[in-house]
Amino acid sequence: MQDSIMEQLWGTSHLAGGNSSYLEELYESYLRDPNSVPEDWRAEFDKLPRVNPSVHSEVPHSPIKDHFLLLSKNQKKLSTAVLSPSITTEHERKQVRVHQLATAYRFRGHQKAKLDPLGLEQRPSIPDLELQYHELSKADEDTVFSCSHLYAGKEEATLKETIELLEQTYCSSVGAEFTHIVDTAERRWIEQRMESVKSHPVYSNEARLHILERLSAGEGLEKYLQSKYPGTKRFGLEGGEALIPLVDELIQRAGSYGTKEIVLGMAHRGRLNILVNILGKSPRDLFDEFEGKSFYEMGSGDVKYHQGFSSNVMTQGGEVHLAMAFNPSHLEIVSPVVEGSVRARQDRRKDPVGTTVLPVAIHGDAAFAGQGVVMETFQMSQTRGYKTGGTIHIIVNNQVGFTTSRREDARSTEYCTDIAKMVQAPIFHVNGDDPEAVVFVTQLAVDYRQQFKRDVVIDMVCYRRRGHNEADEPAMTQPLMYEKIRKIKSTLDLYGERLVNEGVIDKDGVTQMAEEYRTALENGEHVAKSLVKEPNTSLFVDWKPYLNQPFSDDFDTSLDLQYLRELANRINTVPEGFPVQRQVNKIIEDRLKMAAGAMPINWGFAETLAYATILDSDHPIRITGQDVGRGTFVHRHAVLHSTKDGSTYVPLRNLSEDQPEFDIYDSFLSEEAVLAFEYGYATTTPNALVIWEAQFGDFANGAQVVIDQFITSGEHKWGRLCGLVMLLPHGYEGQGPEHSSARLERYLQLCAEQNIQVCVPSTPAQVYHMLRRQITRNLRKPLVVMSPKSLLRHKDAVSTLDELATGKFETVLDDPDITDKDAVQRVVFCSGKVYYDLRERCRRDEIVNVALVRVEQLYPFPEDRLYQILSTYPKVEDVVWCQEEPMNQGAWYSSQHHLRNVIHRHDPDLYLVYVGREASAAPAAGYMKLHLEQLNKFLEDALVYPKK
Ligand code: AMP
Repeated sequence: MQDSIMEQLWGTSHLAGGNSSYLEELYESYLRDPNSVPEDWRAEFDKLPRVNPSVHSEVPHSPIKDHFLLLSKNQKKLSTAVLSPSITTEHERKQVRVHQLATAYRFRGHQKAKLDPLGLEQRPSIPDLELQYHELSKADEDTVFSCSHLYAGKEEATLKETIELLEQTYCSSVGAEFTHIVDTAERRWIEQRMESVKSHPVYSNEARLHILERLSAGEGLEKYLQSKYPGTKRFGLEGGEALIPLVDELIQRAGSYGTKEIVLGMAHRGRLNILVNILGKSPRDLFDEFEGKSFYEMGSGDVKYHQGFSSNVMTQGGEVHLAMAFNPSHLEIVSPVVEGSVRARQDRRKDPVGTTVLPVAIHGDAAFAGQGVVMETFQMSQTRGYKTGGTIHIIVNNQVGFTTSRREDARSTEYCTDIAKMVQAPIFHVNGDDPEAVVFVTQLAVDYRQQFKRDVVIDMVCYRRRGHNEADEPAMTQPLMYEKIRKIKSTLDLYGERLVNEGVIDKDGVTQMAEEYRTALENGEHVAKSLVKEPNTSLFVDWKPYLNQPFSDDFDTSLDLQYLRELANRINTVPEGFPVQRQVNKIIEDRLKMAAGAMPINWGFAETLAYATILDSDHPIRITGQDVGRGTFVHRHAVLHSTKDGSTYVPLRNLSEDQPEFDIYDSFLSEEAVLAFEYGYATTTPNALVIWEAQFGDFANGAQVVIDQFITSGEHKWGRLCGLVMLLPHGYEGQGPEHSSARLERYLQLCAEQNIQVCVPSTPAQVYHMLRRQITRNLRKPLVVMSPKSLLRHKDAVSTLDELATGKFETVLDDPDITDKDAVQRVVFCSGKVYYDLRERCRRDEIVNVALVRVEQLYPFPEDRLYQILSTYPKVEDVVWCQEEPMNQGAWYSSQHHLRNVIHRHDPDLYLVYVGREASAAPAAGYMKLHLEQLNKFLEDALVYPKK
């Protein structure tokens, strides 16, 4: 008999694998009341180190875990040592089993919960939740057992009452997954909150009528749009209307906690409904969009279900600013953008905890389970550089992805939410046809986030009354599901009937509610209940200074030389007693020499000095990416590490008492989510220089959706300005296909309508002025930089302090070696590192009739400036474009028309010659020998013709 209990104990799924929650619970019962556990357990617990009974709840559980882990390694020992003959009475044995049963409900109750409004879900029965599994029977139902381990509000209850509590709490319209959380306090918190109200708190009539009204609004809008614009795509919410009371409650509750801003991200489904019913978008504006009347005059615009919106609503805690992020059709990518925007707002409010700004991500079930960026976004949620104090995730789980069925095809996991377990987020599944349960889990989620500052998930299981969009016939692929859907009443009808039956409202009242809403819509009136008509503008940033700025290349970035020298000394001074590693120390010593004018200035010096000047002019800076603190290629050293105790010192954070933030974080190994995050950050913080650096430039491939859908097109689709800088290490150094090219051609192909800037700075002074120009002028355009690798240490890639003090960013650099311009017969245009290869050849071979002209900004292409420089060579006979990338890559295809325009303007008889590597499938050669052969050949081609 005892052996069988132990077999069950260790064989039961939720206790296997070292999962010690059950023992912990038993131990906690023991701590509260030693007599509440059977004698043998008591004896075993008595052996543990003594603790102060007044602080039981704070007792660390690791000693007990360790103790029982040791025992569990020898099951036999445990069974004899702990439970065997000495459980004295049958009642005590049963008490243990009742405890086990309760634990099973906490673990697996969600698998029995009635979550699917369609009732189509076939779920296997869960043996752990059966009485006989625990060697209990119906005959025990009236026996009174201790229930001190439950939050039942009493110490004892019959088995029947206990089961009723557990069924109600864990197996009704709410299914909670939380036992994967290792923190005991969090688990206890959830148990307490759920069990104490059996997951069904009693709401006042007023609250229930409000829920009804919000549902009525949710359904009313869709019905209205369907009748007015039948068949027009709107990705309606029908079947998931409970989302409206959900988001409404979320905002109100967050507001009551002092939240000042909420940023929402969501895909298409239900978006128009949220915009109108929650954010208070004017119905008239929406109808204009349906009727094709409204245009975004500054660019291409976007369809209505991608549009963002901002407004302020009133809550008990005061006014709250709401921002719905603009989003593309790439569903999940908006989540990290929202996180970045939230972090920017929290930083602006100097709120490192995240109380004042709340991120809310609304997902579809198929995308949440399918897209990898969801995992990346969870991974960032607790990291230093990206955390936002917890995100509330809401899944509008309509159990189908376009035409793809949930089971077998859409995923391998049991729930679409399983990925969230990786960060131990609690997951509340809830039946969307029980709006009160939906509101309850919403309160739970907001409170959990408020309390623990971690991500939490609400999985609202609902259905999609129509097809993927309104022009789609869903029964083609889901005939049975839609047969059922056609027969069932709407959430509003069900809830309305319920409230009528319970005497909260009469039938006419329900009808009147719907009519009032329809009338308001017809009149084009706002229908969001708590919209603030005259919003407090101090809640968000004023972008006016950045709007309609001229795109002029010339911008004065000069500064006083003495000031620069003094600043350089400040950022290269390490505090007394902070020992740094030998090579780093040498770099600092060299930088001090550079400041003194005793050494030429290199890249690392110029770049960090640019940051110092930017900070000193009151612009915050944020730099992230893999290894940015040191720099992948060891040039930056913005974060110094003590060799004594590993602590860090960031000189740029120690410029002055009242300086703005200098944030620099090595990112986790992601490109997609991280770049999306920085886009979100930069589009929210116009006064900060925001930089993302790729480890190698081509790794940005993994973030292509961010580049295509946001960075290069966001302004033209949505009017959202963005000053983000992307530093992309680029250069052909024989390191193989994967480490050579930042795929310059991709960015150039995306350039149009002055959407971005693409620069290839070739000297320290140029990178210095380029960074300063990016932030000190009010133009906010993304800046894509082909940044160097070996050039960081190239003996000729140096500048003087004077060039930093007096210069500006030059879009084109003339050849500094040419003394006699009349002698020049060929001009070679080029960009980036290849210039130094060409120059070395010219110097070696004493070539004086070839001028090397560097195009430092490839977009917007500086035709005028290039023309001016070309015009200074009166005897030029031919012009070459030389690049180190293969012909089908690099700048050649996208920029040659600009080059031709310039040449033609100078001399219509001149023609342009391409010199570089042959077209190639891979970006670069995999063998150093081949790389050098190719290099020698094209350098020769570029320079040989005029050689005397
Ligand atoms: P938000 O806080 O995102 O709701 O923004 C508040 C207001 O600032 C918006 O309604 C826009 O008018 C403006 N705004 C926000 N972000 C940008 C941006 N990236 N570019 C231009 N204007 C913006």
